[in-house]
Amino acid sequence: MYRVFKFGGASVKDAEGVRNLKKILDIYQNEKLIVVISAMGKMTNQLEKVLDAWYYQPDALTINFEMVKNFHLDIAKQLENRQGEITSVLLPILDKLFAILSGNHSNHYDKDYDDIVSFGEYLSTQLISTYLNLNGYENKFACAIHLIKTDDSFREGKVNWEETEKAIQDFIAQYANKTIITQGFIGGTLTGEITTLGREGSDFSAAIFANCLNAGSVTIWKDVPGLLNADPKFYPDAVKLDEISYQEAIELAYYGATVIHPKTIKPLQNKNIPLFVKSFMTPCNDGSRIADVEPLEKIPSYIFKTEQILLSIFPKDFSFIAADNLTKIFSYISKNKLKINLMQNSAVSFTICMDNKPNRFANLLKDLQEEFNVKYNMNKKLITIRHYTPEAIAQVIGEQRVILEQKSRSTVQVVL
Ligand code: ASP
Ligand code: MG
Repeated sequence: MYRVFKFGGASVKDAEGVRNLKKILDIYQNEKLIVVISAMGKMTNQLEKVLDAWYYQPDALTINFEMVKNFHLDIAKQLENRQGEITSVLLPILDKLFAILSGNHSNHYDKDYDDIVSFGEYLSTQLISTYLNLNGYENKFACAIHLIKTDDSFREGKVNWEETEKAIQDFIAQYANKTIITQGFIGGTLTGEITTLGREGSDFSAAIFANCLNAGSVTIWKDVPGLLNADPKFYPDAVKLDEISYQEAIELAYYGATVIHPKTIKPLQNKNIPLFVKSFMTPCNDGSRIADVEPLEKIPSYIFKTEQILLSIFPKDFSFIAADNLTKIFSYISKNKLKINLMQNSAVSFTICMDNKPNRFANLLKDLQEEFNVKYNMNKKLITIRHYTPEAIAQVIGEQRVILEQKSRSTVQVVL
């Protein structure tokens, strides 16, 4: 049975990270592994800058491209032991990227995005696969464009599960005894165009491989000891959750916990494949396990969201907030691709809390103001507590003023 490993950008942000990845693979020497890797460090952000320069600021193109190039060549140099073999794998890839950027863009921004930004994963996996092969860890590089099949919704490719399963199983059958190194985040259409699965989508890629191969488990290697019950940035007393259910992981992701990409859980839950979150610094420690379990003890989990907009909407004609008005409001929210983090209504007003996406929010206001009066507050905080206790609520609120509160049996949300 396969194990699927996923290494994110933080785990391979430098040469030391790549060496450490090999140490972890060495621990699992006798196992069949599919290793899914993201772009190194912050290279996805950097490639987004390259793309924007290509489109909007040609003066900045070379310098941004050089940053991508030097970052990878520098890591390669530190990892070389012989004739610059890793470098010689990377150079043609970098040349290819440069050649694309030397031409005109297609004016189809999202398609160009996938063509350019996917180089991050292509470079990282080629570099790592070559390094491993040169250092006694034999592996087969697999290009995810030919394995994860999607439609042509560029930047958010929708997976064609049937074709993907076929492609993955066919490929694996040819290399049954080798560790496979492949890219996260990347897919391809049936006609071979490159797509991506949405930012931070590498976790999802790992889940797709696991689902299609009926893998024994997925492990996401991170810079934290496992799933924590809060982001330590906001909550210094955060503790590790040893074990949670799939459903709980989905709920946490829904409310904005960012440890695992939200799409990751379902494909695993459907096949009952456990997901481990472990630290790449302490690979032999237990980490967290997400599986078909119902832990007896439910400790509170906290999700903090800052820069929230609290928007209240009032019908201009003093009609009540009922199905017809709500239908309009929701259609505008959906049209402007905004996501509601919390909602509440009274007879004549409807209030929502959402992330601040400046352009989209401005457009939403324009749409709404035709028929509604609106009032809004910026820079609010939204705190969600799963499995709350009165003490937990009191502790996070402290002296702050509560503007809105909503409680169900398992979850409380407060806007501060
Ligand atoms: N490299 C991609 C990103 O940063 C995918 C991932 O890391 O999961 O969004
Ligand atoms: Mg990344």
